[in-house]
Amino acid sequence: MKLPHLLPTLAATILSLAFYPASAQTSALNDTFARDSRQPIDQAYTDHIRKYTTDAKFSSRLVDYLPASATVPTPAKVLGDVAGAPDMLPYAEDVYKYFRQLESASPRVKVFSIGHTEENREMIAVAIADPALLQGAKENGERLAKLADPRTLGLDDNKAQPLIDQSYPVYYITGTIHSSETGAPTALMELAYRLAVDDAPYIKYIRSHMIVLITPVVEVDGRDRMVDTYRWHKAHPGEQWPRLAYWGHYVAHDNNRDAMGMTLNLTNNVLNTYLGWHAQVLHDLHESVPFLYDNTVGDGPYNAWIDPTLADEWAELGWNNVSQMQSLGMPGVFTHGDFDTWSPGYLMFLAGMHNGISRLYETFGNGGADTEKRILQPEEYSRTWYRQNPPLPTVMWSQRDNNNYEESALLSTLAYFSRNTHHFLENYYLKSKRSVQKPTLDGPAAYVLPTDAAELNRQLQLLKVLKLQHVEVQRLSQAVTSSVPAAKRGDKPTTQTFPAGSYVVRLDQPFSRVADALLDKQYWAPDDPQKHPYDDTGWSFSQLFNVKTARVTDSAILKAQMTPATDLDQDAGKINGSGAIYAIANTGQTSLLPLVYALKQAHVETTEKAFDAEGKHFGAGSLLITQTDEQTLAPILHTLSLDAMRLSASPSVATHPAPAPRIAFMHTWLGTQTEGWWRLAFDKAGVPFSYISTQTVASEGDLRSKYDVIIFAPVGRSSSQEIINGLPKWGNALPWQKSEITPNLGFLDSTPDMRVGLGYDGLAHLKSFVEKGGLLITCEDTAQFAIDTGLAPGVSIAPHDDARVVGSVLNSLFVAPSSPIANGYGPTLPVISANGMVFNVSNTLGRQGGRMLTDPYERRPTGRGGPEDSDITQGRQLAEPEVTPKQQPWQPKQLNEDQMRNNPQVIPVQYRPEVILRFSDQKTLLLSGLLDKAGSIAERAIVVNAHLGNGNVLLFANNPVYRGETIGSYSLVFNAILNYDHLRQPVSTAAPDQPAVSGVR
Ligand SMILES: [Zn+2]
Repeated sequence: MKLPHLLPTLAATILSLAFYPASAQTSALNDTFARDSRQPIDQAYTDHIRKYTTDAKFSSRLVDYLPASATVPTPAKVLGDVAGAPDMLPYAEDVYKYFRQLESASPRVKVFSIGHTEENREMIAVAIADPALLQGAKENGERLAKLADPRTLGLDDNKAQPLIDQSYPVYYITGTIHSSETGAPTALMELAYRLAVDDAPYIKYIRSHMIVLITPVVEVDGRDRMVDTYRWHKAHPGEQWPRLAYWGHYVAHDNNRDAMGMTLNLTNNVLNTYLGWHAQVLHDLHESVPFLYDNTVGDGPYNAWIDPTLADEWAELGWNNVSQMQSLGMPGVFTHGDFDTWSPGYLMFLAGMHNGISRLYETFGNGGADTEKRILQPEEYSRTWYRQNPPLPTVMWSQRDNNNYEESALLSTLAYFSRNTHHFLENYYLKSKRSVQKPTLDGPAAYVLPTDAAELNRQLQLLKVLKLQHVEVQRLSQAVTSSVPAAKRGDKPTTQTFPAGSYVVRLDQPFSRVADALLDKQYWAPDDPQKHPYDDTGWSFSQLFNVKTARVTDSAILKAQMTPATDLDQDAGKINGSGAIYAIANTGQTSLLPLVYALKQAHVETTEKAFDAEGKHFGAGSLLITQTDEQTLAPILHTLSLDAMRLSASPSVATHPAPAPRIAFMHTWLGTQTEGWWRLAFDKAGVPFSYISTQTVASEGDLRSKYDVIIFAPVGRSSSQEIINGLPKWGNALPWQKSEITPNLGFLDSTPDMRVGLGYDGLAHLKSFVEKGGLLITCEDTAQFAIDTGLAPGVSIAPHDDARVVGSVLNSLFVAPSSPIANGYGPTLPVISANGMVFNVSNTLGRQGGRMLTDPYERRPTGRGGPEDSDITQGRQLAEPEVTPKQQPWQPKQLNEDQMRNNPQVIPVQYRPEVILRFSDQKTLLLSGLLDKAGSIAERAIVVNAHLGNGNVLLFANNPVYRGETIGSYSLVFNAILNYDHLRQPVSTAAPDQPAVSGVR
């Protein structure tokens, strides 16, 4: 089908311009955006647009008027005022109401429900185009689907060509994923109205040549909470207003870092919509820097797995958009900037990784609809090579100004896109084709996850992420031997035999790029010109899921017999053998802890050591289940992908009952995002917990009677002082609770005043909780808090400022393989490190964890011999100094007799911290991402179990539960919880410096 060309002839355009009403904003110099002079304007609406625009420069001829329609309602119908009016933020429900009114009134608009949020709020997508295009959307989608999967065309360009000629593209715009960035919903309401109603030739051309798809609110839960806090603000003039403590159900700003892990509903709903429509562009709207940063072009380094055509499209669209805005006279628009285009975790990158075009605007916003004087920083208003017309240093800025920029930029870029649809569809096909040709072009041919019962649980979790990314997964029908590239450049390739049943991710499929980007390793050069990576530099899912993955370049693998793995759970939950005892080997499955909660009626024991039974090895921490039957157990094991072996007799191995610990998550009112990723992991796994705040802890005298484990997940760069003191109290109270004007607050937790912190009573309660045998789990800044407040005797943060680590995957080794925390693990584990944080441990208290002792041989004085020799005083016998055993970086210094004598700072042996995990040596430390100057962090402790009274404080320097990406390290946390009452290692009686104290266990 050829599309009707609705563009008026040039003569008609000129004629219509002649009748164009005179206006300062409507010069005829550039007729690209000429209006239809015959179309009346909505004068009242137009007057309000102009009234709310603080400076004519902050508007354009595209949006400084609103065309009138006799039948189609303007946004004012629902809003009561124009889009971007001051003091007004609509709830998602009102935004949807408007789009549905638009749908009823215009055949050019269709509204689709695209799923729900974690809190069951609806997400929508709105399609806008001429009725002919909307009616033909299904057939168009079928054509686009073929272009998207050129295997269906036999990769034949001659078959693709007519489809390209007949098809029209889909341009998908998404708004307000970030809840404090408030302008997009109203801008998109008005944009939709303009696209549906305006008869300007360029708009007619857009709607006759492409479908514009809009999701006006991506983070719906967060939007409604944002509107609540804004309403509270308007009801309390002159007072400070509560910050947005929660955005979505789990995370805040990081909802835009989920495009790899696919854990949030909004990410899946947007990807499914994007792919369901076979869209070519995903354009996400944000607010931060003045006045419009089209970060489509970004800065280097670019993601290493994208098709080069995408980088060209970024440049083409970005620079075109900036020059259009420049021609419209709008200052402060630029496209080059400090956003690097490396990590594929951003929502827009769903398109970049699925053969489309990812785009993003940052416009200027006030975090609400107040009109405010804004004072810019020199780096914001300075003129640079890529920003020749920079923002003004001081401005009055309104939500309407924001809407003017968003709409003008979108309309001008849609106009460009509509005139080049053929070109972008051709690119879309070519990118898709090259993705299918990946094995023969850039490789590799496939990734193989060899059959391995021990890894199955984690393999399936990784494969399920790939499935959410719409990646196809196959299973080998028979064993295949394949050549595998050497680990090091220059070494010879080796061969590897993959058994039948191994999982194969073939890269001759349309979405090979996202599979490759996730499973491959990353390398960020220490001397890269970009010194401030925008986000994590490493993310390799093979590593972070702790799954053996072979990157196979030998394309012979693609000819092996294999079948689609349609049901990944097919093999999960096998039960073999006979007998009344069900044994589950601990191989680091993340579902052993959830199993204990699922089996509350049965009896579960944990084995303290490894054992063999029925020809199978069971590692320490394996579970023995009795008082259940197969009928009850089988479906649970299937869901949790755990295999069991039935035993007829109890194995001869020490066991203890596996409790179902009572867990509390303690959150602050300072920040809830990083702990939100932990809550998400526990909810997804099915591990129940109570959710309490530091304020609850302050008022609960006996925490131990209620909880066995308290998780104090990272707050996110907060200080111990802030955690204890909370926010300053010299202003008004900041409530976070449900009320008539804030119906969406207080859902997860509530407080009359967010400013109140843990306090010293709370700290005392936490200390007492641990002393009475509780387990406190801390990580990053909360580990720092445990150290600062004396909850972790003998642990300190080691100086690591010289090391450069930015969200890198680093290698670690188990120091205490017999600790229950190490159950199910091998000798090493890849972990993610945000900034290279590491611990020192010491056998004494005091400053810097008491590391004041010196090794007499460390710095020998000037004298005879070499560096390893002793000096000899002439004329007398050599007197050798007392030598303490050589200390490793992760170990405490040993104390000699003299240092221990009458020293109250010496920590009794049973209270000394125990190092569980440490970084590997400098040579083997980097797995993925950036690592420079690793000397101060190599071999240092990263997971330490500190002892206080009868309890334990577990400290993580790495974040083991992060963005749904670190499945491999979840078990460190889950093991600790499952064994919270058995975490103390047997004390070595051979300790040379054991002081004589009466032991407390
Ligand atoms: Zn944002």
